[in-house]
Amino acid sequence: MPPVFRFAPSPNGFLHLGHAYSALLNFDRAREIGGRLLLRIEDIDATRCRPEYETAIYEDLAWLGISWQTPVRRQSEHLADYRAALEKLSALGLVYPAFESRAEIAKLVAAREADGPWPRDPDGAPLYPGDAKSLSADERSQLIASGAPYALRLDMGAACRRTADLTWNEHGEGPDGERGIVPARPEAWGDVVLARKETPTSYHLSVVVDDALQDVSEIVRGQDLFYATSVHRLLQVLLGLPEPAYRHHRLIRDEAGRKLSKSSRSTGLRELRAAGITAARIRRLVGLG
Ligand code: GLU
Repeated sequence: MPPVFRFAPSPNGFLHLGHAYSALLNFDRAREIGGRLLLRIEDIDATRCRPEYETAIYEDLAWLGISWQTPVRRQSEHLADYRAALEKLSALGLVYPAFESRAEIAKLVAAREADGPWPRDPDGAPLYPGDAKSLSADERSQLIASGAPYALRLDMGAACRRTADLTWNEHGEGPDGERGIVPARPEAWGDVVLARKETPTSYHLSVVVDDALQDVSEIVRGQDLFYATSVHRLLQVLLGLPEPAYRHHRLIRDEAGRKLSKSSRSTGLRELRAAGITAARIRRLVGLG
């Protein structure tokens, strides 16, 4: 089977030079080795995603000279697939409801921090303290019956006990120069959210389900997602999904060395195009000559 690549943007803003770099790397690499390139629209967050951004993604990629296989998979149309995966994890006893709001979690963390530093995940967010894990079955059903909103979290300790020595094969490079066989450390993320009331799935869950359903064999994406790969490998093993090859690439930064953001005008593809910059120039700007 030919290798399968994917570019998977979220339509919550306009694409910038960093997206151009990632999309072009995927496109070039797929062409080089006779692979297929898929485009996936990661639009599970209904509060932030907008149809005009999705239309702009198609336009901007086509302008860059990128083509992809259709149909495009739009995650919001496949919630049943993510629900099925969640049920599988639930059946393994690895999922529990947590009823605290974000503000309540911040309070719980602050209380723990009074006794010393509290662990943070690789993105810098404090780990969920796990209080809801100790609710009894009765307390849980009462809260659910009362209509209290909750998030479904992965019991990371239990999940890690079911899997041993997870690794992935890194063909690119991590932020600290990691390459080759990299040990996964999903426990660094704590009890991650798998689904919320308003979004019945999460980035981690939908990305592993889709990569498997779409037979993606080569994942080429930014180093900002390098550490998340640990969670992805864990979910792949728990769900019995195949292991793709990973190639994390450097991030394009602005003059001040900051990661680009979708709201920054100076590096937006639409702005650059309007200013008369050609697609060939964009390639050179991101170092693809
Ligand atoms: N949708 C993610 C983003 O826009 C990328 C997902 C991935 O490549 O795994 O950052």
